[in-house]
Amino acid sequence: MSSVRLNVENQRKYFNSNVTKPLEFRMEQLKKLKELVISNQQKIIDALKADLKKSEVEAYISEIGLVLKEINYTLKHLKKWQKPKRMPTPWSLKPGSAKIISEPYGVTLIISPWNYPFQLAIAPAIGAMAAGNTIVLKPSELATQTEKLLAEMINSNFDSQYFCVITGGKDVGQELLKQKFDFIFFTGSTAVGKIVMSAAAENLTPVCLELGGKSPCIIDESANLEVAARRVIWGKFFNAGQTCIAPDYLYVHESIKTTFLSLLKKNIRKFYGENEFKSNDYGKIISKDHFDRIYKLIEGSKILYGGDQNKEAQFISPTLLEVSSWDEKIMQEEIFGPALPILSYTDIDEVISVVKSKDRPLALYIFSTNNLQIDKVLNELSFGGGSVNDCLIHFSSTEIPVGGVGASGMGRYHGKYTFDTFTHQKAILTKSYFFDLDLRYPPYTEKKFNLMKKFLK
Ligand code: NAD
Repeated sequence: MSSVRLNVENQRKYFNSNVTKPLEFRMEQLKKLKELVISNQQKIIDALKADLKKSEVEAYISEIGLVLKEINYTLKHLKKWQKPKRMPTPWSLKPGSAKIISEPYGVTLIISPWNYPFQLAIAPAIGAMAAGNTIVLKPSELATQTEKLLAEMINSNFDSQYFCVITGGKDVGQELLKQKFDFIFFTGSTAVGKIVMSAAAENLTPVCLELGGKSPCIIDESANLEVAARRVIWGKFFNAGQTCIAPDYLYVHESIKTTFLSLLKKNIRKFYGENEFKSNDYGKIISKDHFDRIYKLIEGSKILYGGDQNKEAQFISPTLLEVSSWDEKIMQEEIFGPALPILSYTDIDEVISVVKSKDRPLALYIFSTNNLQIDKVLNELSFGGGSVNDCLIHFSSTEIPVGGVGASGMGRYHGKYTFDTFTHQKAILTKSYFFDLDLRYPPYTEKKFNLMKKFLK
């Protein structure tokens, strides 16, 4: 038997023993995870620096801090979340009472990507633990140092029957997908998402797919351009553009295009200096293969700013591009790197109709002070989630869900939504022995049937 299979079978035995279900167990494990994150903080920062040249601030706010916030929020609310919920009972079912029991799915699999390699591995695991599941976690092999650290942290502190990290690439991922899990949480590309979903279908395993796509960012003529430019540059070049919800491209109103472009350039210089290569706050591309992929996209377009590169250092400078047609290479796929194509428009309906004709994006941003225009965009376009007058920050709230729609994914998480995602809601109706109406029992008569129709109105 393969070691992957053995791990999954051991977890199933462990889950079936009911050890993971009591609230005390879940709280204890979450507290242990919190302590581990705190005590390994420096190692996490070092690993993220080695993998992505992430600055300490970005490492904290987008990985360590987000994870700690999720754990604290879960610890605070878990007692309430996991309680059976009493529900109203229709009078036709009385005497009786209804409730929903939140039960863990069982043995769960989490597969995570390399761009926020710590946070995107641990954040779903928090909900899986909170709900009382066991977890097999496969981090991305591309963020090698973080992968190694995650394996060390989890495998030497948790019982592998409960929570284990299995390292490796595509082959290990495929081996894992051959096993029977009770729930799969996948974060990664749309292409691999399809592979995950079809493997899950073999066992009718439910999935949550957190995928990617091209996320639009619209700057209309009423926007506060100074603030918008600052926020767009921050959101786009955070983690050197390797953020699933980063603005993939801009749609800027023709009347403000020149002003906005000069503000974008000004902010790049302000944030990262004249030589971004030397900036401690600017990251690197994860691998040489991704470097080649991104640079090929840039080469096909007109560069308005940046375009500097150093393959050895996996560096591509913040780059602004002018795009006049969706036929250009850069508009054919998710960029997932530090290149920002700029398109212009004169009528918001044009933008809406183009975005509607593409795959539904993971995120959408609109900068505007015109509420009618904002509402039009929010009501007419379908996308995972987003922000008005800002970028990325909707991801950091524990109160609203994060997830895609259509090609950008299915399911949601963060805060209570992660707990719900890893939970089956078991509906129970408990009847009393008192009073057993003969009405529903055969032989059915016309009189009974007429009465039943009245009951079911
Ligand atoms: P990827 O799909 O290549 O890999 C993701 C994970 O799947 C990795 O752990 C990888 O080893 C594994 N994997 C790859 N091929 C597999 C296979 N055939 N079978 C099983 N597992 C396999 O994605 P990536 O390059 O790591 O990440 C980039 C993508 O992830 C982008 O599209 C980005 O938008 C998306 N993403 C989405 C979110 C989100 O929250 N929605 C967050 C981060 C990244």
